[in-house]
Amino acid sequence: MKAVRFHEHGGTDRLRYEDAPDPVPGPGEVVVRVGACALNYLDLWERKGLPGVPFPLPHISGSDVAGVVESVGPGVTHVKTGDKTLLFPGLSCMRCEECYRGRDNYCRQYAALGYFSDGGYAEMVKVPAVNALPYPEGLAFTDAAAVPLVFMTAWHMLVTRCRIRAGEDVLIIGAGSGVGSAAIQIAKVFHARVITTAGTEAKLEKARELGADFVIDHTRQKIRDEVRRVTGKRGADIVFEHVGAATWEESTGSLAHHGRLITCGATTGHDVRLNLLHVFAKEITVMGSYMGSKHELLDVIRLVRAGQLKPVVSHVFPLKEAAAAQAVMENREHFGKVVLSVG
Ligand SMILES: [Zn+2]
Repeated sequence: MKAVRFHEHGGTDRLRYEDAPDPVPGPGEVVVRVGACALNYLDLWERKGLPGVPFPLPHISGSDVAGVVESVGPGVTHVKTGDKTLLFPGLSCMRCEECYRGRDNYCRQYAALGYFSDGGYAEMVKVPAVNALPYPEGLAFTDAAAVPLVFMTAWHMLVTRCRIRAGEDVLIIGAGSGVGSAAIQIAKVFHARVITTAGTEAKLEKARELGADFVIDHTRQKIRDEVRRVTGKRGADIVFEHVGAATWEESTGSLAHHGRLITCGATTGHDVRLNLLHVFAKEITVMGSYMGSKHELLDVIRLVRAGQLKPVVSHVFPLKEAAAAQAVMENREHFGKVVLSVG
């Protein structure tokens, strides 16, 4: 099959469109012919390399896959060749206490598809059969692939961890990111008031179209001042973070008394300052969040089917132009998901 692989870590020039061995399904596994694969920041980290993380090389990235079952391994009965499927983007052991409880993202072996395994930047990908979810009919592959990881992550953050309530003020940092564009929609489904940030007028307009009530241009407005103005000096009940060092002080400074800050990542750096005076005097809560579980993605898919949540696709590239696709993300030219169309 054709795949986009890197043999050593580095820039986008390390991504090679080349022949790779066809995957063969073992017991309990399926091979899926990829229709589309969406990009995530995780893919950029994998390609650049992370200290102490031994990625198998050569490596095929890609966590978000929509496609058609090509072949099934021994013992697989609930899906068959020819079925359309949307893949659950997390791999877990399926036999520990957390997996039994349905909290697969708490499994010690949990990792995204395409992290330590080969992912979806390819014509075919192999996954456990339990990862092959029913396809949300009516969506193009490029739209379906834009759903799983970002919507599941944003759902886990706002619904499961923060227990978002109607009428709350939610500050969503980075409207143009995949996870930000998902979070705006989820917060509106829960009848929250959404304040969000972006760096260009075009992105701010798209954020409004997705339902944001107030938008902040972070290049010329101070986020915490605008949040205070919009909320009558209260601050935000929830701050949705994934940027890290570049926005951290504005994010924590925007919290209301008893507010909660939730973070799922730090694309601009992990080392941040936290003023404990604010933590105890304002009784704020800082929470981490790591991807999500199958039942959360199934909740998301139900709302996608109902038209209440919509995949946001920014750019579509053919598989062989994966390097150009990653460059769009790296340069933050996108609003929503960058997707590879395969086959
Ligand atoms: Zn487990």
